[in-house]
Amino acid sequence: MAARFVEDAASAVLDTAQELLARGLVDVTSGNVSARRCDGALCITPTSLDCRVMTLDDLVVVDPSGQVVGGWRQPSSEMSLHLACYAAFPEVAGVVHSHALHASMFAVARQSVPAAVDELAMYAGGEIAVADYAPSGSVALGDAAVRCLADRGATLLANHGMVAVGRSPADALHITTVVERAARIVAGARALGRVVALPGPGEDALHAYRSARHG
Ligand SMILES: [Zn+2]
Repeated sequence: MAARFVEDAASAVLDTAQELLARGLVDVTSGNVSARRCDGALCITPTSLDCRVMTLDDLVVVDPSGQVVGGWRQPSSEMSLHLACYAAFPEVAGVVHSHALHASMFAVARQSVPAAVDELAMYAGGEIAVADYAPSGSVALGDAAVRCLADRGATLLANHGMVAVGRSPADALHITTVVERAARIVAGARALGRVVALPGPGEDALHAYRSARHG
């Protein structure tokens, strides 16, 4: 397929970055958001800038090789992670990287988030795995994440956080929220006693997820 893109990518990135903070999924300068533009370039949040004061002028445009082609700031230090997702998945047009608390707890414990919550299966495809550890900002981190994202909307990054992919930044933000809620619910359910998995192998949910992602 031709690569999917987002109309008005810059506004979509800024709105999503600010909503990511408003929902408490990141601290003020952590986390980053990007979108694929119609020309194939990426619009991405800059490194180390409080997104409460971020404007459209602060966003950075990079080509698919990571060369800066627009904006005056440095792109996010996790640019390689974003580039890897777009290179691997033409149907993806939005990427959100976050340090959501409960998802990060699972990432530190190196435990996947099981498909025990309906909405996780529906919107993210099922169980959310932990990608192999690689240092922040490295090309290897992008490679590790991509290996887990072929049929899932998100993956945990070992000892770090989460990355989610979607049809747009808003879609990736929604998946981020769903995974974080599922991680919180599972952690609480374990404290109460046990976690009961959803019945069946989850093929219907995975099929629905794939249709939504590729449709
Ligand atoms: Zn990070």
